Amino acid sequence: MNILILGSGGREHALAWAVMQNPKCDKLIVAPGNAGIAAIAECATFNINDGASVVSFVEENAIDFVIIGPEAPLAAGVADDLRAAGILTFGPSKAAAQLEASKGFTKEICDASGAPTAGYARFDDAKAAKTYIRAQGAPIVVKADGLAAGKGVIVAMDEATALEAIDDMFGGAFGGAGAEVVIEEFMEGEEASWFILCDGENVLPIGTAQDHKRVGDGDTGLNTGGMGAYSPAPVMTESVIAKAMDEIVKPTVAEMAKRGMPYQGVLYAGFMIKDGQPRLVEYNCRFGDPECQVLMMRLGAQALDLMLATAEGTLDQAKVNWAEDHAMTVVMAAKGYPGAYEKGSVIKGFDALPEDSKNMVFHAGTAEKDGQIIATGGRVLNVTARGDSLQEARDRAYAMIEKIDWPEGFNRSDIGWRALK
Ligand code: ATP
Repeated sequence: MNILILGSGGREHALAWAVMQNPKCDKLIVAPGNAGIAAIAECATFNINDGASVVSFVEENAIDFVIIGPEAPLAAGVADDLRAAGILTFGPSKAAAQLEASKGFTKEICDASGAPTAGYARFDDAKAAKTYIRAQGAPIVVKADGLAAGKGVIVAMDEATALEAIDDMFGGAFGGAGAEVVIEEFMEGEEASWFILCDGENVLPIGTAQDHKRVGDGDTGLNTGGMGAYSPAPVMTESVIAKAMDEIVKPTVAEMAKRGMPYQGVLYAGFMIKDGQPRLVEYNCRFGDPECQVLMMRLGAQALDLMLATAEGTLDQAKVNWAEDHAMTVVMAAKGYPGAYEKGSVIKGFDALPEDSKNMVFHAGTAEKDGQIIATGGRVLNVTARGDSLQEARDRAYAMIEKIDWPEGFNRSDIGWRALK
């Protein structure tokens, strides 16, 4: 079959890598893609956030199956337009994608389904929000309701920071995303993510992971899009997984179906776990980046069969063939990230790297120029490895990093510290 993947990050390179290994894939196009993706698939450029453009590309290129990587096209309703045109699609509808696009909506679903999560209140006016913060006290968490590229959440350890966040959000710091604000109880515990395929009715978990949001070793410095991840996450024990499934995931999926907005795609659930009890922090309506890289490394070619079963509504008959393995990805970023950074530096050393089912460098912000790979973004490479133990995966990933010749880049040296300590 002919397959189209939308997106351009390390996530989409990992998806493309897994899809290409499956003999069902005759032809793969990725839009817009990047230099790493261009080495294994055809890349195309058109507006991936515009449903009409995507549908006409799909029709002109006889595409049989579309996998939507990032949240922006999902929130824009591209999956709805594709399905309306009769095209098999992996990714939730605009209505179902509200689980990521509106934090208030997710809270409402938690209320209706009884899923454990932080206590909260919603506000569309600064004065009432401030009165609430003063009454609750700190620590407290202030969130812009809409999509803010991971920057719309302020975990305030004191009242003044929370009040300032209210002024920023209602002052327009996050545009329309901050027109409504959710204020949440601060939850303590350890965070982990779980990825669950849903076909509207049936669910199939495809792995747990933990990422590393802060830029510096020891989880210090500014927040980023993610500096590394590993799977599985030891904190997601069998008992935590059972509770998360019965108390949070299944009730959510049932509530969405009941509301006439069945969830179809991958549900990315972020939990806070304390004393063996998971509580929901957030849902995302797509794979995490960089978590997707470790999941694809562990799943390999079967990822395509599972995504097809999701789109076709046959997940009840699908099964994951698990190897008892571990995977880790370490992000290499341009020096300065997540602040200002230079673009255009040359990355060398790829020829010395192994590329097989245990060692892969997934590209994020890269392009090819005059036969060389250059850095074009903040997060640039995802050095990913698999092993029988997390230590083995880690050693393989860091051994690859040693061979990459990129003086303008940096990486964290302690990915996986929680699980390895
Ligand atoms: P991202 O997409 O980057 O994960 P987001 O903008 O969707 O972020 P959340 O995941 O809701 O926002 O919050 C970001 C981070 O803030 C969480 O990963 C968690 O570390 C912290 N956080 C959010 N809510 C709470 C809470 N109620 N208590 C404690 N920490 C929280």
